[in-house]
Amino acid sequence: MDVQTTFLDRLFQSGLLIDTGVDGLYGRSGQFEDVIAAFERLIDKFGGADGAEAMRFPPGMNRAFFEKSGYMKSFPQLAGTVHSFCGSELDHINLLQCMEVGDDWTKDQQATDIVLTPAACYPLYPTIARRGKLPMSGGLFDLQSYCFRHEPSQDPARQQLFRMREYICMGTEQHVTDFRQSWMDRGIEMMKAVGLDVTIDVANDPFFGRAGKMLANNQRDQNLKFELLIPITSVAKPTACMSFNYHQDAFGAKWDLYLEDGSVAHTACVGFGLERIALALFHHHGLEVKHWPSKVRQALWG
Ligand code: AMP
Ligand code: ZN
Repeated sequence: MDVQTTFLDRLFQSGLLIDTGVDGLYGRSGQFEDVIAAFERLIDKFGGADGAEAMRFPPGMNRAFFEKSGYMKSFPQLAGTVHSFCGSELDHINLLQCMEVGDDWTKDQQATDIVLTPAACYPLYPTIARRGKLPMSGGLFDLQSYCFRHEPSQDPARQQLFRMREYICMGTEQHVTDFRQSWMDRGIEMMKAVGLDVTIDVANDPFFGRAGKMLANNQRDQNLKFELLIPITSVAKPTACMSFNYHQDAFGAKWDLYLEDGSVAHTACVGFGLERIALALFHHHGLEVKHWPSKVRQALWG
């Protein structure tokens, strides 16, 4: 049994995570949720005064926006789509027969207008573009969503449905890169406040295929993505618990996000992996919250 399975088993045994029979798809206990809620309040403490506009989208997004985003070009292996039965009564009879004999009943399901949200910020860009030009002072948004990624794993820190809290900044290059830097500093400070040792390193997204390798190298060479890493299931390979992404003007150009002077907006987003942060806390301080160091409990629950 490897180390990852052991931590997952301990999480199941303690009831913090609830087994559903699918790797990466878990229920959460009230205690687990309370840690996430407390950490989100800590995020609010650090970011609240910035005056971000809060929005919450469900964990599904408009398929047309998803297609336009180019997600299928870069990450087809991670995407999840919502399909439904749209047939006649005869099709229904065939469907039930198919299920009865254990054949594949899913092949006739039709794509709906909804796909599962791959990152909390995806529904935001078309929403903001619809409003017209951004002021020269830019825009700042606060989002949180369950996100889906098809990456089944027995590492409890790699889930298929997990929550991402994000701040998204739109504006000039200087504005959004300053925003990203300030959250790298805050991220280190926040994790220190809850007793977690972190490192920050340059990173890349898991672009698909051979062409994807080039995109990943390019992203690294240009320092477009950084991650805040915390050891959870491995010290040698610490887990990314926060991401700091600078999209240059790529999303601005794709979605027609303009500043008042007519220039294309630059964008950056900072994402907190809420389950990963909770898991880092449980791994580091133990599965019993009441035994956590008082300094950590104070930072989280005041
Ligand atoms: P990304 O868009 O890949 O940078 O993801 C943003 C944040 O979400 C990461 O820094 C992680 O903390 C978290 N995250 C990404 N993938 C997963 C996953 N499969 N399970 C849990 N958290 C994840
Ligand atoms: Zn984002």
